[in-house]
Amino acid sequence: MEPTTSEWIIVKTSKVHNKGIFAAKDIPKKTKIIEYVGERITKRESEIRADIVIENSIKDKKKGAVYLFEINKRYDIDGNVEYNTARFINHCCDPNCEIEIEDEHIWVYALKDIKKGEELNYDYGYDIDNYEDHKCCCGAKNCKGYIVSQEYWPKLEKKIAKKKAKEKKKALRAKG
Ligand SMILES: [Zn+2]
Repeated sequence: MEPTTSEWIIVKTSKVHNKGIFAAKDIPKKTKIIEYVGERITKRESEIRADIVIENSIKDKKKGAVYLFEINKRYDIDGNVEYNTARFINHCCDPNCEIEIEDEHIWVYALKDIKKGEELNYDYGYDIDNYEDHKCCCGAKNCKGYIVSQEYWPKLEKKIAKKKAKEKKKALRAKG
């Protein structure tokens, strides 16, 4: 299958992570930019694949990306296929795009006005389990340092604060 394209985007090397998707021209807010396509699979198959991704990420941190999206109660889309150009969109803690599911199709929408040349990104929406496996280097001013959905940021901040306090205690003890 031919890779998906859109008049709005180009694929280039990204400073954030491997390849990225960039605006080919100014993109107005709310533009439907590109469809996130993939293989339609059952929930059961999806769970199996998610487990494999987690296992691989323990062995190789670079392979920790999750490309599974829920489209309805029975099916998910696995976007980890060569023809899914949208899989190159990176995560950002201050994203300029968002994902919308419409009639079992996944679309990338502009969350704000995007200037030509800007890299596109969205909130991957990862939960907080194993957050340490998904370091974020998106470069946003508000970057949390980990790829975790914004809804878990308060929890994440608490976890990080706790960890820091623990490390401080340890350091003090070591000094004796
Ligand atoms: Zn970030």
